[in-house]
Amino acid sequence: MTAESKAKKQRAALIAAAVLFIVSAVWCGYLLFRQSGRQVEIISDGRVLYTLDLDREADREITVEYEGRKNVIAIEDHDIFMKEAECPDHTCIKTGRLGSAGVPIVCLPNKLMIRFKAGTDSAENGGVDAAA
Ligand SMILES: [Zn+2]
Repeated sequence: MTAESKAKKQRAALIAAAVLFIVSAVWCGYLLFRQSGRQVEIISDGRVLYTLDLDREADREITVEYEGRKNVIAIEDHDIFMKEAECPDHTCIKTGRLGSAGVPIVCLPNKLMIRFKAGTDSAENGGVDAAA
């Protein structure tokens, strides 16, 4: 009887340890995924000007100039979008907030791009990364 309950206790402790380990592993993975998912790069003419963590950024505006033309990038409520742009088409402004779908905000005339930082799995297909 006592030996049996001791074995039960040991097994329970083992299961508890295993559960704790799995939970912490999943939590770490979640945090890592979450961090990499909110890292944003502002790229001008193939060069990374800023790498921002949207979770930690306060509301502010970043002005980027290319050949005398200005783009004003705004961070608001941990989202990023093109607020003003001196470009003919304003496609970048119409794109709106950078979403989780992975579609970057691009201002072709001013060679400006705002995108989520690529994870390790998709780094290969980014030609811009090789230049940086
Ligand atoms: Zn534009």
